[in-house]
Amino acid sequence: MTVLETVESSTNRHQGVGIVGAGLVGCLAALAFAAKGYSVTLFELRSDPKTDPSSNNLRSINLAVSSRGIRALKYVDEEMADRILEHITPMKGRMIHDVTGTKQESQLYGLFGECINSVDRSFLNDCLLDEIRHSDIKLLFNHKLIKLAHLEEDSEIPSMTFIDTSLPHSEPKTFEFDYLVGADGAFSQFRYQMQKFVRMNFSQNYVDMQYLELYIPPNDDPKAESKFAIDANHLHIWPRHNFMLIALANKDGSFTSTFFSPWSVIEAIKSTEEWLAFFKANFPDAYKLMGEERLSSVFENHPRGALMQVDVYPYHTPNGRAILIGDAAHSMVPFYGQGMNCGFEDVRVLMESIDKNNGDITKSFKTYTDARKKDLNAICKLAMDNFNEMSSKVTSPWFLLRKKIDYT
Ligand code: FAD
Repeated sequence: MTVLETVESSTNRHQGVGIVGAGLVGCLAALAFAAKGYSVTLFELRSDPKTDPSSNNLRSINLAVSSRGIRALKYVDEEMADRILEHITPMKGRMIHDVTGTKQESQLYGLFGECINSVDRSFLNDCLLDEIRHSDIKLLFNHKLIKLAHLEEDSEIPSMTFIDTSLPHSEPKTFEFDYLVGADGAFSQFRYQMQKFVRMNFSQNYVDMQYLELYIPPNDDPKAESKFAIDANHLHIWPRHNFMLIALANKDGSFTSTFFSPWSVIEAIKSTEEWLAFFKANFPDAYKLMGEERLSSVFENHPRGALMQVDVYPYHTPNGRAILIGDAAHSMVPFYGQGMNCGFEDVRVLMESIDKNNGDITKSFKTYTDARKKDLNAICKLAMDNFNEMSSKVTSPWFLLRKKIDYT
């Protein structure tokens, strides 16, 4: 049986919007379209985290949500945003840790209490999924996008084809919608399929940087003043020029920490003993907080993540029926903490454009690229530049004088 026959025999017509990817950005987009009264179907490759907790095994345990992201959450649903914001930990500045492990320097983000906020990624995704479950949005897990069709200039009814990954021999199933939204992340299949209909400029650039996630446990001393071993209301940074460690607080008193370095630095470390010695020399206070056992286990078992930037132009198809948002459109390095925030902003900008165009989605999709591209280019550049800022420029001269730093 050819794919086309299968497709035709199982075509389901849905008026409205079909969104691919129930990550952070796809969920917010689904809620935003539903709030405007569109019929929304959201497809997700993963299984339902409610019934399969392992499906929440996402990269980076916590995220910084900034006013850019909060504004978009509030735009979509003020009460939902308030419910989420109850669970964030404000970070009013950076806390710079020197190489002796004895000195910390607070650098406030602003004079008027400006903050970024630490939030658990799975918690945020689950909150958005719960909002979706309580809405009219149709949510389909275990659906893997394999094909887009009918996106030529004169096509009006685009379609998406999926296989159900929960079934051993799933037949491809095709769904038709008026509008399609691709929010399926950095390695987007939606984007790949769109390239068959659009003269799309596309680049994917890996940066020579890996990340490794670590953990600082809550204070277990019952007599301790705080459950947090270091100040919860700062983004902690151990800047060591070409590599660095950061840590963000979690609500339970723990911190999620991330070690960023060029691949050559981590690959030069050949054994757990060398790793412990490296860590102790460069991050002595973090070494104590994490403990040898935990550090050894991280080195031996945790994956090293790669970092890349994705650049796309344009984000929409010429017929104004499909659009790319979030990491699928502009994956960026995480040093500015703005990837998700920008994805949320994509949703707000798109919705405001639909309002301005009196509900004409086709027109809004067609004008979105030019309205958004310049800002996204700027933020991707800032994200790259902020690695230098975080790893070097935050280090004030007296910090460097205290001890000769090993700049390996
Ligand atoms: P994703 O979160 O990748 O979601 C895409 C979804 O699509 C997934 O659920 C996936 O399963 C699904 N999918 C994929 N393929 C298919 C398919 N074929 N069919 C159906 N579904 C599919 N951003 C911030 O704003 N602040 C931070 O502090 C921050 N820190 C970060 C730290 C690290 C180490 C990293 C790596 C990133 C960080 N980011 C941060 C960036 C942020 O994680 C991303 O920008 C954000 O997750 C993008 O969301 P998304 O919904 O576009 O994509």
